[in-house]
Amino acid sequence: MSAAPHHFFDEREAERQAALDRYAIVDTAPEQAFDDIVRLAATLCDVPSAAISLIDHERVWFKAQIGIDQAEVPRAQSLCGQVVDSPRRTLVVHDLLDDPNYAKRRRIGGQPPRFYAGVPLLSPEGHALGVVCVMDVKPRVLTPRQLEALDLLARQTQHLLELRRYGLEQRRLLSEREASARRAEHARDDLQRRHDDLRYTASHDALTGLLNRVALAELHDDPESTQRLHGAPYVMALLDIDHFKQVNDRYGHLLGDRALCAVAHAITTSIRGGDIAVRYGGEEFLVVLPNTRLDGGAEVAERIRLQVLAAELPFELTVSIGIADGMPEQDTPESVFDRADQALYRAKAGGRNRIIADDTPR
Ligand code: GH3
Ligand code: MG
Ligand code: MG
Repeated sequence: MSAAPHHFFDEREAERQAALDRYAIVDTAPEQAFDDIVRLAATLCDVPSAAISLIDHERVWFKAQIGIDQAEVPRAQSLCGQVVDSPRRTLVVHDLLDDPNYAKRRRIGGQPPRFYAGVPLLSPEGHALGVVCVMDVKPRVLTPRQLEALDLLARQTQHLLELRRYGLEQRRLLSEREASARRAEHARDDLQRRHDDLRYTASHDALTGLLNRVALAELHDDPESTQRLHGAPYVMALLDIDHFKQVNDRYGHLLGDRALCAVAHAITTSIRGGDIAVRYGGEEFLVVLPNTRLDGGAEVAERIRLQVLAAELPFELTVSIGIADGMPEQDTPESVFDRADQALYRAKAGGRNRIIADDTPR
């Protein structure tokens, strides 16, 4: 018999090894189900040793064994290795001593084996993965029933192997599904974040962080937010920075921008959570105070005016503010805005840096 390790480079051997690897069973711990099979094999054939061997590269590794004192043996010249290489069907050697092919054999419990019978374990694709074998230190002949029993045990072992591969495959599929679900979730979160960022950018003024006119238009069209103006009296305040053109001309646009931020800061720190502050034009701001009466609105406006005055800038900054109140079921937001605008005009005409409340009789 040729024991040349031709299978090193054999393509079919590479496929066979790959098939075995898919079971991920080599070097795993003993398992009761496999142990039971070798015990049954030994009992049914009435021999001292039996094994389930798997041919892993150049070694024979035992998933289960009794009566063998090694955990693995070299593949070359092993009978199990030969069953796997050829003929890939049951091999029975009644007396190894009679057979010149098997002069040097591994030992069983110190004595050289005389008898060997091995049934190959085949994968569904027909790869021989290993062997269910029985051995004895004396020559033997197995009855047809014993040989059949060995065949059945090999088939049971194949079932166990397939179950194991199926379980591994299910686990792999499950974790793949989980991973792709996680990926989808991340992608969704990412999209949502970008969507939110875009919405924020679209609805907020980049310089001051206040809402912009786009947001104001959205609020105007949003039934939920207009509803809030229908429930109770509210106040609108229109602010315009005084002589802002001069600020730009004298101090440059950078300081002009700082002045705009100072006013935005004065507004946001003077209003409440439910109030709305909008950078309405270049240096004009709209503040909507829901659930507020005119005197309350005047107080907020005064807070803003004083805070703008106190802003740390290399020049004195002032604002003029016009305020008007709206009564639910009576005033449209547009009409309140117009009255606030007229009041602002009067604040400018009256000398600026002041608050004028609308007093048109209605
Ligand atoms: P007043 O309101 O007191 O009558 O005088 P004003 O100089 O502020 O006049 P008006 O409100 O009519 O003009 C606004 C000026 O504000 C025009 C422009 O020079 C300046 N301005 C408007 N938007 C911006 C802006 O976004 N950044 C800067 N730096 N300046 C702006
Ligand atoms: Mg203006
Ligand atoms: Mg102005």
